[in-house]
Amino acid sequence: MGGRGSGSGRKRAFAGFGGYGGKNISQPDSIIKANSGTHLLHSPETALEKFISMHGNDTAQEHAFTVGEDGFVYGYSHGAAREVMPAGNLRNRIVYHNHPSGHAFSGQDLLSMAATGAKGVVAHAVGKGSHILTVNNPKRFARVSDEFQRAVRNASIPEKMDYDQGVAYWLNKNSKRFGIKYRFVPLKKK
Ligand SMILES: [Zn+2]
Repeated sequence: MGGRGSGSGRKRAFAGFGGYGGKNISQPDSIIKANSGTHLLHSPETALEKFISMHGNDTAQEHAFTVGEDGFVYGYSHGAAREVMPAGNLRNRIVYHNHPSGHAFSGQDLLSMAATGAKGVVAHAVGKGSHILTVNNPKRFARVSDEFQRAVRNASIPEKMDYDQGVAYWLNKNSKRFGIKYRFVPLKKK
């Protein structure tokens, strides 16, 4: 679940459109399901394809894969409408989850990524595409993790941008400072 919006009025901060972390109300599931069919060619790309094929259209509930750099799914869980707790150890792994709301990252997504030592986070905006944020160098990022979390809490989004534009703007603006990389991959047209 994401944090609540800023009450200051002057700034608009990262909002709570879905997130991971938060309360532990999620149900773990078998990683065999998450890995089946991709076992001969594990990669982060095949894991994302698998995730989208399983949960890319779910507008009711969030789900999460915990994916290693080898593309293997090490944790699989089901959450609620606006939150999910990823399963397994997150350190140096990437959490893939869906946003039924269709929005980009919540503030909580970014805070959880930093706090758990994950190597990145993917939020699949249902019906739109995948927001992908990765850490270039986990060791280096660990040294700026607290600073990153403070910056997320204090972030403001320019008034003329909508939420998704504002999130992309903020992440791109801060990519050098924190050694992170953001991209958006639109859904392939069928
Ligand atoms: Zn999220």
